[in-house]
Amino acid sequence: MPPPSSAPFGASGTSGPLDVLAIFAHPDDAELLAGGSLARSVDRGARVGILDLTRGEKGTHGNAETREREAKEAAKVLGIALRRNADFPDAGIEVTDAARRRLAGIIRELRPSVVVTHWREGRHPDHPAAARLVVEASFLAGLKKLDCPGEAFRPRKVVHATIYHEDAPHPSFVIDVTEQVDRKLRALECYATQFQGATGRGEVFPGGERPIADQVRAHLAYWGSRIRRPYGEPFWTRETLAVDAFAALDVPTF
Ligand SMILES: [Zn+2]
Repeated sequence: MPPPSSAPFGASGTSGPLDVLAIFAHPDDAELLAGGSLARSVDRGARVGILDLTRGEKGTHGNAETREREAKEAAKVLGIALRRNADFPDAGIEVTDAARRRLAGIIRELRPSVVVTHWREGRHPDHPAAARLVVEASFLAGLKKLDCPGEAFRPRKVVHATIYHEDAPHPSFVIDVTEQVDRKLRALECYATQFQGATGRGEVFPGGERPIADQVRAHLAYWGSRIRRPYGEPFWTRETLAVDAFAALDVPTF
């Protein structure tokens, strides 16, 4: 049977370039901010990776070892082909020349078509720093003469995850994660040191006594309703997205 014509990816498998690479500051950020959409790309045949920039060793809960084990389990739940850690210092991500070149080297090695990262503002200073570092390293990785190992390569697109952010603009698009929502929440449950008994974490502000999974589900349901679906995750791109013709427009007005 031929693959569905709408499948946007073709490089599934155990090696080779990645279709999608999520680059976030701390283990669990990728799951919290884009976990449903990453799982959906996996379900559509994409080869998806996660690059955690730090080990989260300065976090109040857990330590580098427990968080690494949790990150591996969560990646398995989502179907992630590859999870790496860039070993930048937690609570110390800075956009320096050395940091840009180091990240550019990893991007050259993993060759992702699409990179997903943080929104450009955030409560934790690592988050906006990571967003800037990812954009700049993605561009620099394509410069042939950059002083950095590997063959020049530039991702086709960088996408910012805006969920939970009150200061983010209207999203450029929302991905339907209705079929992936339970897996996203199961992946978050893998982070027992971060989420057990927690009502909020990271960019998710507590909403009273209810566990964090309820907060996450509520945000996903809100963004789902914006595309007339049960659950969704919002994203923003600097560039304008194209539509083939009026007839191809999704989401009814009435
Ligand atoms: Zn974080």
